[in-house]
Amino acid sequence: MTKHIKKSEKVKVMKSIDCRKCKTQSDCCRFGAWIDLEEAKKIISAGIKGDFFHLEADKVFPSGFKVGTSIEDQPCVFLESDGLCRIHKFDYSLKPVTCIEFPYEDNDLSSFADVLCTPYKAKLKEKRKKEK
Ligand code: SF4
Ligand code: SF4
Repeated sequence: MTKHIKKSEKVKVMKSIDCRKCKTQSDCCRFGAWIDLEEAKKIISAGIKGDFFHLEADKVFPSGFKVGTSIEDQPCVFLESDGLCRIHKFDYSLKPVTCIEFPYEDNDLSSFADVLCTPYKAKLKEKRKKEK
């Protein structure tokens, strides 16, 4: 699961990586995500098929608790076979902030972007090539 240094409730960042143009959208969902417990409760109440794991106290999340959307390093349980997010399809307003923000978090690039975000990895590779 991706981890987070600090969570905000709003998406504030100006994004240079545009997920809407991404051709590998499921790549960043392959280990699930940490989301706020209150977000998880809303998803359950909406009746969206899925589950949550590893409840932990974490002060950086607004409720003070986080839950994971995957078992250990398995893909997110909300990732459908077409590579799209079940929550996003059902009701975008229920999509967890973590997932909306990624590959950013709290006005900065996530420390997991170079592992999970394929377009970002490609940009890095290109930059390194030019620097040689
Ligand atoms: S975070 Fe990266 S891999 Fe995921 S959808 Fe956005 S651009 Fe694609
Ligand atoms: S909840 Fe949706 S966007 Fe977030 S990791 Fe799971 S499938 Fe991806």
